[in-house]
Amino acid sequence: MSEKRLALVGAHPDDCDILGAGLALRYRALGWKVMFVSMANGDCGHQSMSRADLAARRKAETEAVANLLDIDYTVMDVPDCEVMPTLEQRWNLLRVLRRFAPDLVVTHHALDYHPDHRYTSQLVGDVAYLLKVPHCCPDVPALRKNTVQAFFYAARQTGRMDEFTVAVPIDEQWDKKVAAMACHESQMYEWLPWVDFRDMDAIPPASDAAGRLAYVSDWRRPAFARLAEMYRDRLPAGTQLAEAYYAAPYPTSLNAENAKELFPFGC
Ligand SMILES: [Zn+2]
Repeated sequence: MSEKRLALVGAHPDDCDILGAGLALRYRALGWKVMFVSMANGDCGHQSMSRADLAARRKAETEAVANLLDIDYTVMDVPDCEVMPTLEQRWNLLRVLRRFAPDLVVTHHALDYHPDHRYTSQLVGDVAYLLKVPHCCPDVPALRKNTVQAFFYAARQTGRMDEFTVAVPIDEQWDKKVAAMACHESQMYEWLPWVDFRDMDAIPPASDAAGRLAYVSDWRRPAFARLAEMYRDRLPAGTQLAEAYYAAPYPTSLNAENAKELFPFGC
């Protein structure tokens, strides 16, 4: 099977990790290339750090993930909560994706909860066809292949989607996915517990590395256990954890035919 290239495009520097690190690990295990893109720099995601310091810290966190997963991680120079379907952001994303030349692009659902997620989804949709149009951004050669489009299955969704969906077992990838999520220390142990009103006293200290990983695993596991339960009729018996990817409403969408090549480990 020929090499495939996967681009996950999230709004913030942790979205791809939370939603799609299992798929990324599946691709890397085959020797296939993976790039994560964050459309925003993450500089609003903290209750006390300055925006400039936070953006720098979060960039470093993405670099730790890139090293851990052996992937590229691109963070765009857009402040948090300012992702918009502007021409500037459209062309910048177009250039990044053309240079990587993905076979599969996954992004947020168009109706996701956060405006940055929704506009990231729109931007990815906006460039889907333009990747092949040479007169748009002629400084980077247009692609001479189709790029398949899919959406993440957001953890907060509670029912099966009507669109074509691929479920990916991630039991064997879970520990490393947890380690990738845990690289985002500013998020997993500071901002997200605070903004979600979790018990801050229950967070293990930085000196307790194993406790920190277990904290993230226990917190994040139910969402992926729910997906495994939702698609248990098609997943291998005994699958405990799964990610799911479903068709985006574009001509080059994920479908039963292209999924055979793009998800050889999927169901
Ligand atoms: Zn986000």
